[in-house]
Amino acid sequence: MSLNVLVVDDSSVMRAMIIKTIRMSGLDLGDVYQAANGKEGLEAARDNWVDLVIADINMPVMNGEEMIDEMKADPETAGIPTIVISTEGSETRIERLQQKGITFIHKPFTPEIIKDSIRSLTGIGDGNGP
Ligand SMILES: [Mg+2]
Repeated sequence: MSLNVLVVDDSSVMRAMIIKTIRMSGLDLGDVYQAANGKEGLEAARDNWVDLVIADINMPVMNGEEMIDEMKADPETAGIPTIVISTEGSETRIERLQQKGITFIHKPFTPEIIKDSIRSLTGIGDGNGP
């Protein structure tokens, strides 16, 4: 089963790096959507069938945590597995995100960490299917 992924990061270089990492990890990537801030990410999550969201925290217009809160408040997007990839150093904020069911990955990341997180969140790529 292929995985439709939405990557939300204000850095286009980081978005490209994340997408390349997922491709290299051997996961079956379906449609890939990109957004440069939380507001665009929210719109993309509402307008498309998205299986997984990978989001940054620090972004202009709407940050990643605000976007996640909006997603959780909307039944249509509340259940989408979400990974946050960030340089965020605040343990308080990281714990708050984890309590909301978010998987947190520190930048810089390795392909293995991304792949393992996606597998455990979605069950896709472990050979057993979802
Ligand atoms: Mg950023």
